Amino acid sequence: MNFIRTVIIALPKGFYTTLKHLFKKPVTRKYPYERREMAPRYRGKHYLERYDDGTERCVCCGLCAASCPADAIYMEGGETDNGERFAKVYEINLLRCIFCGFCEEACPEEAIFLGHEYEFSDDNRDSFIYTKEQMLANRPKEKPFKRIIRKVRRIF
Ligand code: SF4
Ligand code: SF4
Repeated sequence: MNFIRTVIIALPKGFYTTLKHLFKKPVTRKYPYERREMAPRYRGKHYLERYDDGTERCVCCGLCAASCPADAIYMEGGETDNGERFAKVYEINLLRCIFCGFCEEACPEEAIFLGHEYEFSDDNRDSFIYTKEQMLANRPKEKPFKRIIRKVRRIF
């Protein structure tokens, strides 16, 4: 009886389900060949900005570190020959970071931003200490959305 029920009901039902989905557009992506475009306000890996002339925007004021609820930012300041402050060392511990974006909000120089990069898994804890050089290199091409944020920030 069980055999007949399987052949007459369960098997055709299974084939029908397979056929139903065979010609449908797949809902999955072929990652990593097809990457997902993140939402404009997505907060991923940080990057540091430069001025148009190439100098670093960060003046090592420490406001980002003070506003960080996870105590993930470490910095050491220095001075250039003409007396301008800059961050000699600037590190973010990505294992502590909760990607809240407070550092970005607190920065008066518009120096630090959270980008869209989300692929930074690793099996070595040390590689999650994200250095200033890495953050400067990670700087993407400015998008129109960010340009608008800059303008709004200047007004308020
Ligand atoms: S995103 Fe939040 S938790 Fe991460 S470094 Fe910035 S302030 Fe700290
Ligand atoms: S990133 Fe911004 S808030 Fe943080 S130390 Fe540099 S200038 Fe100050």
